[in-house]
Amino acid sequence: MTDAPQLKLFNSLNRQLEPFVPVHEGEARVYTCGPTVYNYPHIGNMRAYVFADVLGRTLSWRGYKLTHIINITDVGHLTDDADAGEDKLEKTAATQKQSIWDIAEHYTKAFKDDISALNIRQPAQWSVATDYIAEMIDFAKQIEPKHCYQLESGLYFDVSTVEDYGRLARAVTEEGEGRIDTVEGKRNAADFAIWRTTPAGETRQMEWDSPWGRGAPGWHLECSVMGGKLLGFPFDIHTGGIDHREIHHPNEIAQNQAYCGCGGLDDAAHSGAKIWMHNNFLVERSGKMSKSSGEFLRLQLLIGKGYHPLAYRMMCLQAHYRSELEFSWEGLGAALTRLKRMVMAVEQLKNRHAELVSASSEQPEPFVQEAGWTLKQVQGDDWGKIAPAIEKFQAALADDLNTSIALTALEEALTIKKVDPAQKLRAVAAMDAVLGLGLLDLARTDLRIRPKDAVITDDHITSAIAFRKELRAQQNYAALDRQRDELTAKGVEVMDGDPLGWEWKLA
Ligand code: AMP
Ligand code: ZN
Repeated sequence: MTDAPQLKLFNSLNRQLEPFVPVHEGEARVYTCGPTVYNYPHIGNMRAYVFADVLGRTLSWRGYKLTHIINITDVGHLTDDADAGEDKLEKTAATQKQSIWDIAEHYTKAFKDDISALNIRQPAQWSVATDYIAEMIDFAKQIEPKHCYQLESGLYFDVSTVEDYGRLARAVTEEGEGRIDTVEGKRNAADFAIWRTTPAGETRQMEWDSPWGRGAPGWHLECSVMGGKLLGFPFDIHTGGIDHREIHHPNEIAQNQAYCGCGGLDDAAHSGAKIWMHNNFLVERSGKMSKSSGEFLRLQLLIGKGYHPLAYRMMCLQAHYRSELEFSWEGLGAALTRLKRMVMAVEQLKNRHAELVSASSEQPEPFVQEAGWTLKQVQGDDWGKIAPAIEKFQAALADDLNTSIALTALEEALTIKKVDPAQKLRAVAAMDAVLGLGLLDLARTDLRIRPKDAVITDDHITSAIAFRKELRAQQNYAALDRQRDELTAKGVEVMDGDPLGWEWKLA
């Protein structure tokens, strides 16, 4: 086996691939901007966490001790990413006539359910913004004298006080500037609120006392504070969706520079993190991803229509995280089929392995290792004919997490002939430790999910299919046709001779 190439990641700050060199030897510290829990996440939001999960798994796989933080934004995110509009949670609570805390709890749980369904590993900590208000006030006090000014509506950050403001976003567009400049008295259009003081005569459900009056923190402040407090500046990698590259992260960076008294961004570490990574968007042309569109594309909607959630993870892995990915039901169906093929191949390997075990008097080696695979173990194993596929896999990952090529390497490993099934299963375990498709745990039947509105039970279908086999044995083609029509009327499509051995699907 050749050595794995060095891990290179695309740093949005410098717009180039850079080698990953940890700040603390042997460790990787990663902060991922979490969800704003005022509504259910849509599947586009979940793409951001599948990406962060693959990054985290890759770092663990490469042997780094990973500390991954994902925050939960339960205060401060306005309906516009800049300082316009209302707090998203305050607005939802008012519309739904519920307490903000109940709203946050409900949608945090829904988010975590989606995280589990997508096999996204739990971070070291879910940091909840409202648990860090005192730290946010301390941070703001420290940067205030040199970098902030107060207006009636709150404390503002003067972006002209730090070098290279906006470098991450590259171009501050006129449209962007126009959108931002909504508060009278701001010194620069891009200045942003650190603390939003509650207007006189109003109360908010969430507000705290501060030196700048009763109010609530700005959204950008939260992430600076939690990242710095939990990981220490500078940490290794900060992630988020590509929209965060434009406003949220440039503002976080400016605050971090102010806090650490750092200079310009030619030294990326002055930004608070050495590497800033952004996933591109999942797009859907008809607008079904907009949370204001009624029934929007949530993971639960996909499951309700009979798609296993890991088919969506597969769909994400098929594209590079920096490419835009277009959602379509056909695309999701194709991803499910690909997952089914892999699961079937692994099931066959497991059966073959079990046969060999029962026929042998010796205790064969187990193929799954509890601790999860690391690159070191992979390098230390003798892969024989599978070695080229493993090498391709590690090269793909090292090249800015190219999961789409990594998936083909896994498929190639599965198709190599005359290899001990235990060894192939080890290769699957080693690769799936990063891809996270759960290939060794899934059974073919797990992938068949009943759509919510299906009118026929699984038992009924199973007995109908068994009866079909009897009819075929009797060569009773007329009855076979009739039965197919009856099943079709109940929403079941019979798939005689399906190469995957998938005998039916719900139409
Ligand atoms: P939010 O809850 O709005 O703060 O978003 C949570 C995460 O989802 C952030 O990292 C966003 O950048 C990301 N995100 C939002 N929309 C999409 C999308 N359509 N595709 C991929 N990521 C997205
Ligand atoms: Zn953030």
